[in-house]
Amino acid sequence: MDRDSVPSLVDSGNVRSCRGQLEENRRRKRNHVPARAGLLQGLTVCRRCGYAYYGKTAPRIAQIRPANTLRYYRCTGADGYRFNGKAVCHNGPVRGDQLEQVVWGQVRSLLEEPDRVADEYRRRIGQAHDGAAMPDENRSPQITR
Ligand SMILES: [Zn+2]
Repeated sequence: MDRDSVPSLVDSGNVRSCRGQLEENRRRKRNHVPARAGLLQGLTVCRRCGYAYYGKTAPRIAQIRPANTLRYYRCTGADGYRFNGKAVCHNGPVRGDQLEQVVWGQVRSLLEEPDRVADEYRRRIGQAHDGAAMPDENRSPQITR
């Protein structure tokens, strides 16, 4: 039996969609996120440079008040050591509690409008079937409409 005579179990649109998601996960480092990294690590992206934000704690405060550490999100592009000693972005860190509060507020408002969720779901399914790449819509640490 040759390869062309075997029916596909998964349609090509789903294969492309899965490959795109795996690539996005790899690029934004969503795989193997440690619990201390922060809820939004890899889910928020710098508006200026497009690199993912990652969670971090402030070490000096952690030494003084370990139970009340300051968490923040930092743009990967702002780390010079990752780019041969020269950062590609100069965006500053964002406080974790504030960013998570903003995102949670937007998630709550979205959940109060189930029609918006359904519309977005249908739009993305349509894109996957058309073979279009998933939108790269998280260019800032905010959820956009
Ligand atoms: Zn950046």
